[in-house]
Formats: sequence, C-alpha cells, structure tokens
Amino acid sequence: MFGGTFDPVHVGHVVAASETRWSLGLDRVLLVVAADPWQKRGDVVAPAADRLDLVRAAVGGIAGLEASDVEVARGGPSVTADTLEALGAPDRDLVLILGADAAAGLGTWRRAGDLPGLATLAVVERAVDGRIPDPSCGPVVDPAWTVERVAIPRLDVSSTDVRARVASGRPIDGLVPPAVAELIRARGLYTRA
Ligand code: ATP
Ligand code: MG
Repeated sequence: MFGGTFDPVHVGHVVAASETRWSLGLDRVLLVVAADPWQKRGDVVAPAADRLDLVRAAVGGIAGLEASDVEVARGGPSVTADTLEALGAPDRDLVLILGADAAAGLGTWRRAGDLPGLATLAVVERAVDGRIPDPSCGPVVDPAWTVERVAIPRLDVSSTDVRARVASGRPIDGLVPPAVAELIRARGLYTRA
C-alpha cells in the first residue's frame, strides 16, 4: 500500500511505487488515494474523485501498479490502520510504503500503535549515486516495525510545486505523466492558487 493525497500524483510517486515493487519483489503496489487526509484538512485542493482519476491515469499501462479507491469508497477520515485491515487476507503480506518525510510523522497517525502488527514498513529514501547516503540518518520509527529501506532516484518534485505551477501558468510536462497533465488541463484543475 502506497497511500497519499496525490493532489496531484507526480513522477516522484510513480518512481517510488515502481522501484519499491521491484526492489522488494512485490506482486503489486496499490496507490491508495486518501478520501479525507485529516492532517491536511483545508489544504487539499482537488476533489477525491479527480485525484483518483489522476492516479488511474498515472498508473495506466505500468505493470503491477494499481490505483485503489478503497479509502475514497469508504469515505470519512483516512485511517491507514483501517485500510490495511480492509486490504488484509490470510495469504497476503502487506507492506506500507512511505517516503522518509511521511515515515518521520508516523507516530502522530491515528491507531499508530496498531500499524506495526498489520504490515511491514518500506521507507523510500532519495538516493545519492544509487545508495542511501547514511543508513543511520533515516527517520526514527517505532522499534515494533519491521523496516525495509528502499533507495530511489532523487526526484525533486512535489504536489505543492505542481499545483503552484498550474496556478501560475508554468509548465508541468515531465513532472507528471503525460496522461495526468492532459487530465489536469481538460478538467481545469489547480488553476487557482
Ligand atoms: P504535498 O506537496 O501536497 O505534500 P507530496 O508531493 O508530498 O504532496 P503526498 O501525496 O503528500 O505528495 O505524498 C504521498 C507519499 O509520497 C508520501 O509517502 C511521500 O513521502 C511520498 N513522496 C512525495 N513526493 C515524493 C518524491 N518526490 N519522491 C518520492 N516519494 C515522494
Ligand atoms: Mg507531502
């Protein structure tokens, strides 16, 4: 499970998902769109249905990457522990994929104490020369977690920057997959700052 607001999804998300899938040998990676990310209330711009369509456009044609509407369909606040329970099955090993910034805030999440019992944690870290710079400087997480660290190419792109670019008329080509740029244009998303 790779959760996010995806407001909008960008190439950093796609690379993180596909590199983690390859690196850990996962069957599939679900990009789970948060319905109501309660820690970002007031800051979320696009409706959940649009953010979900953007993620669908981003993963179209990429093997093993899928958009998941599990949180959007459930509605209400996005609680990752609830989502992992919904995705769980006896023959399934779940992996929670997080960027290092998100992993550092894990302790503040709802039901944080239940999470290590539900999944393994994969922390995606921006590599320098293909390697994680210093393993000891990763995020501090609850020792109850089993943690895998995944090095990914450093792509300095954020949803915040993509939104600002659209609002000011600057290009986003290359920062988001072409189908995502097209959908943002077609729906007129993010045109107001
Ligand atoms: P915002 O700027 O609105 O906070 P964001 O770009 O950080 O958006 P989120 O939806 O908040 O995107 O992040 C979802 C997940 O993707 C988080 O685990 C985050 O750490 C990770 N992530 C975000 N940007 C990148 C990137 N450039 N490379 C790798 N992982 C990323
Ligand atoms: Mg973020």
